[in-house]
Amino acid sequence: MKLRLTLLMFFVITISIAQNTTTIIHAGHLLDTEKGTWLTEMTVTLADGEIQSLDKGYLKVPTTADYYDLKDKWVMPGLTDMHVHMETEYNPHAYISKFVDDPADVAYNSVKYAEITLMSGFTTVRDLGGSGINISLRDAVNAGKVPGPRIFTAGKSIATTGGHADPTNGGNQAFMGNPGPREGVANGSDEARAAVRHRYKNGADCIKITATGGVLSVAKNGSNPQFTVEEIKAITETAADYGYHVAAHAHGDEGMYRAVEGGVKTIEHGTYMSERTMELMIKKDCYLVPTITAGKEVAEKAEVEGFYPAIVVPKARTVGPQIQGTFARAYKKGVPIVFGTDAGVFAHGQNAKEFGYMNEAGMPVMETIQSATITPAKILKLEDKIGQVKKGFYADIIAVSQNPEKNVAILEQMDFVMKDGVVYKR
Ligand SMILES: [Zn+2]
Repeated sequence: MKLRLTLLMFFVITISIAQNTTTIIHAGHLLDTEKGTWLTEMTVTLADGEIQSLDKGYLKVPTTADYYDLKDKWVMPGLTDMHVHMETEYNPHAYISKFVDDPADVAYNSVKYAEITLMSGFTTVRDLGGSGINISLRDAVNAGKVPGPRIFTAGKSIATTGGHADPTNGGNQAFMGNPGPREGVANGSDEARAAVRHRYKNGADCIKITATGGVLSVAKNGSNPQFTVEEIKAITETAADYGYHVAAHAHGDEGMYRAVEGGVKTIEHGTYMSERTMELMIKKDCYLVPTITAGKEVAEKAEVEGFYPAIVVPKARTVGPQIQGTFARAYKKGVPIVFGTDAGVFAHGQNAKEFGYMNEAGMPVMETIQSATITPAKILKLEDKIGQVKKGFYADIIAVSQNPEKNVAILEQMDFVMKDGVVYKR
């Protein structure tokens, strides 16, 4: 009898939660992302994970509604980081981990990183490369099994043999083998097309290529071109067949120029970008993803004895400190900018440091926020769903305790995080 009563109460409570779908937020300051201005004393009404209405003034809260009092907060849409790696986080043992960690170890780590990322106010991310576990992670987040940001993932990056994202770099001869398109290594146009189709088969959302050498791979050159224009075109054209855009990692200018010419949508890092490449990016509406935080981190860690392998250290010392200066020049020149950090190269959850670095390099704080909201929404083809607190948009809402335009570092201290109408932090 007692058990039955308990069960009955359980059902009554469950039903009342299910019916109680309206949520009201009173926002002292609410960002109009498009205009770049703050509305004051607003009521946001949410239901079923979406924003139902915005009203001027603090409307009366119905007794059946959930209520969040953010009257003393600066309320914004959830942020988007266009360059993260949800599977990894660099440490002195990272290079050995690919030989000793099982996929399950990587998966458990990625769950932790996803939660940390969400708690720091990033409700959407683009994952630019891992082993493919990032695809399962996306599905687990979407199914509500684990907390995390909405993930758009490239799955495994595509490289040429020995290139920055060749997964067997740094192994012994037996381990190196000869990976192909399935493993994300492609040479020539046919393999390039096959590599894209493998990503589609695996369930990726976009494509990442490593157009030049990179800092952290166990390889000598950090900036040489690693694809031909023909190979890049084969990738971007095939990607378009599947509705994918292409992101290109690039430090050196020649490989970067080829990537832009070949039709990629974003350039990651952009370290040695020339005026000529900038002009082509402006012409082709290609975005720079700054990753200044990663640049600062590798320069700093290069000075820590034993943190990186010896072959990586000189690359980290030369490439790292360049990145912020390149961003400053590109911004001034008018190159389109979209926010991205390369989190995973540094600790997950510190993504918002990038706002301060971008601002330091000359971009007004409001524009940095727009580059992490409405701009990524366009590239991800979600311009009517994310990046704004507006009727019909996903209920992705965050809040901080000070005006970020007065104190940009406050973005590193999230007070409130809601995604799809579910509150994760308050
Ligand atoms: Zn990266």
